[in-house]
Amino acid sequence: RSVPDLARRRAELSPDAIAFTEAATGRRLTAREFNARADRFAEALGRRGVTAGERIAVLCHNSPTFFEILMGSAKAGVVLVPLNWRQTPAELLPILADCGARLLLHDEATAGLAASLGSAAELELVSFSAYEDLIARSSGAPAGGSAWPTDRLWYLLYTSGTTGKPKAVIQTVGMALANYVNVQQAVSLTEADRTVNFLPLFHTAGINLHSLPVYLAGGTVHVLPKFDVEAVMGLLESGSLTLFFGVPAIYQAISLHPAFPQADLSRVRNWGCGGAPLPDALIRAFLAKGVVVCNGMGMTETGPTVFIMDPAHAAEKVGSVGKPQILAEVRLVDLHGRDVADGERGELLFRGPGVTPGYFNNPEATANAFTPDGWLRSGDVGRRDSDGYYYIVDRIKDMYISGGENVYPAEVEAVLCDHPAVLEAAVIGVADTRWGEVGHAAVRLRPGATATPEELCAHARARLAAYKVPKRITLLDDFPRTAAGKVQKHVLRKLVSQEAE
Ligand code: ATP
Ligand code: MG
Repeated sequence: RSVPDLARRRAELSPDAIAFTEAATGRRLTAREFNARADRFAEALGRRGVTAGERIAVLCHNSPTFFEILMGSAKAGVVLVPLNWRQTPAELLPILADCGARLLLHDEATAGLAASLGSAAELELVSFSAYEDLIARSSGAPAGGSAWPTDRLWYLLYTSGTTGKPKAVIQTVGMALANYVNVQQAVSLTEADRTVNFLPLFHTAGINLHSLPVYLAGGTVHVLPKFDVEAVMGLLESGSLTLFFGVPAIYQAISLHPAFPQADLSRVRNWGCGGAPLPDALIRAFLAKGVVVCNGMGMTETGPTVFIMDPAHAAEKVGSVGKPQILAEVRLVDLHGRDVADGERGELLFRGPGVTPGYFNNPEATANAFTPDGWLRSGDVGRRDSDGYYYIVDRIKDMYISGGENVYPAEVEAVLCDHPAVLEAAVIGVADTRWGEVGHAAVRLRPGATATPEELCAHARARLAAYKVPKRITLLDDFPRTAAGKVQKHVLRKLVSQEAE
């Protein structure tokens, strides 16, 4: 089973449509130019002796060149491994060894990091300016084998590392297509759509929400080197974007921008969010401006889209991630694998063409991630209401047991966030001789606001059962985070335990 070369089909369907624009240089690439450059790169890979199934790595800030490399890799059947430029050589070298990449493409901004990787590992380095020379030397003939098998390993993405060591998730052509269909239905993409790309390209959202779908639909992707709140505010108000996708930390940054209260955000027709818990207060701050933020949920392992909220019900179902998209199958099961009733909590299981075949070179992790009958275990607790809308309760790993009762930190965090002085809260369960475990909350206050831990405890006590009230609250300026802005609770745990000593 295969699909045609998608970049070529896109170029045939609307050759002169502007596919990518680059904020840093003002560069504009039509679908035809973009496809021709990807063809040239595929040919250059062949000249370098890189063959189908081999891995190449890329280290770069956001750029249309990344997407050319992604498409060129698909044309050559080569597996692309995007690396996290925030990591150190000590973190990246094992990843390079693990995936067996022998060629590393890198941009100007990551040249220093690339050089130290190149000297420590047997790795051919190709800078983005050498890339230009490389493709200039290609004949420009269309790349060979035109069909893309849907089960072909296209690229590898490492998970966010929220709960521990990142895992390399296989991403196939079929997964990208499933995501395209899901996003297409949720957002009704057209050739008139324009979105902005700034989320890191080494995570699934940077590629798939909504950049790849917008490109495949014939729209335009405007690429910023990375997130910059000033630039994004300007774009949102300029009327040049029809779609926007961010993670909660991005929405938080926009809402804290001094221009937010007056900003005219009415020109963007669809606002997507996902990847981490989205506080209700943040959704309401945007709703108050007439902006309907549609939360969604997915994983690196699911390509990523599973749930997307429909705009028509977003205001009525604040806190929900919506319903499963057309190509996602979802179950909610108890500890024994039995389906739970509406309203009850259970682990979310996923199946469908968007779900990965597994982790790269890691049959053990793959076996552990799936049920015997082939459902992916998400590790997330969810519930469904009687209208079929889903809510993400928390991660199973973050749940703790206090005095025999289950506590979901997300519930406690939501209550703390309802306090006017609180910007963000993260709760972890810590060992306690009397209760087994008790909650320890880390809290970030809003700029200029004040509140004492005692006041915040009293606020929680008035709203929660006693066993859920954190026994200790620590005020912090910021939390340890992944590149996707997610709070790393395993790092936070070390931080607050040092503080508690
Ligand atoms: P790791 O697997 O390395 O610990 P990670 O799970 O954060 O990291 P990702 O694949 O980027 O890596 O993230 C998927 C996870 O993000 C989901 O399993 C879920 O826990 C969380 N998540 C995604 N969207 C939402 C959302 N809308 N609300 C709450 N949590 C979400
Ligand atoms: Mg995960």
